[in-house]
Amino acid sequence: MKKNVKDYIRTIVDFPHEGILFRDVTTLFADARGFRMAIDQLLTPYAGTRIDKVAGLEARGFILGGAVAHQLSTGFVPIRKKGKLPGQTISQAYTLEYGEAVVEVHDDAFQPGEKILLVDDLLATGGTAEAGIKLIERLGAEVVGCAFVIDLPELGGRKKLEAMGMDVYALCEFE
Ligand code: 5GP
Repeated sequence: MKKNVKDYIRTIVDFPHEGILFRDVTTLFADARGFRMAIDQLLTPYAGTRIDKVAGLEARGFILGGAVAHQLSTGFVPIRKKGKLPGQTISQAYTLEYGEAVVEVHDDAFQPGEKILLVDDLLATGGTAEAGIKLIERLGAEVVGCAFVIDLPELGGRKKLEAMGMDVYALCEFE
């Protein structure tokens, strides 16, 4: 019997490269009880907090963030990989293990002073979330929380985001 959100997450060995343990949340998303539990738990710390919009990081952050936004009755904003958004965008580069990646958001997606909850499935080095936070802040909005299903604490993402003054919340951890 699965009790916790963590019990619904499947581990795939050697994906996308040899030696990597990929934490697969599709098994969590596919299960009615697991998915509801995850969304409900992602919301708990923000009861009473003003949230104007939810921002989700591509791609699993869209699934989680869309459900969270619906539950909060807020709008949802996708932060996408380079070249996917049709309108005027601003871009933010960040470093990957090998090379660089770029994320973008529409330049009218956030208004100055808006309070934003940032959502993604997994926090590793924190590079992706940091780039998302910078985009939100460059448009004058404020990130009031960063919520993840999984934290990999050994990769230092939580420390990096907390050093930026962020409030970081995750439902479970893996070594
Ligand atoms: P970071 O930028 O914190 O190093 O990496 C986090 C990003 O990579 C997230 O957008 C996340 O979706 C993705 N990611 C990295 N490793 C995994 C993994 O093992 N499982 C899942 N589901 N996503 C991962």
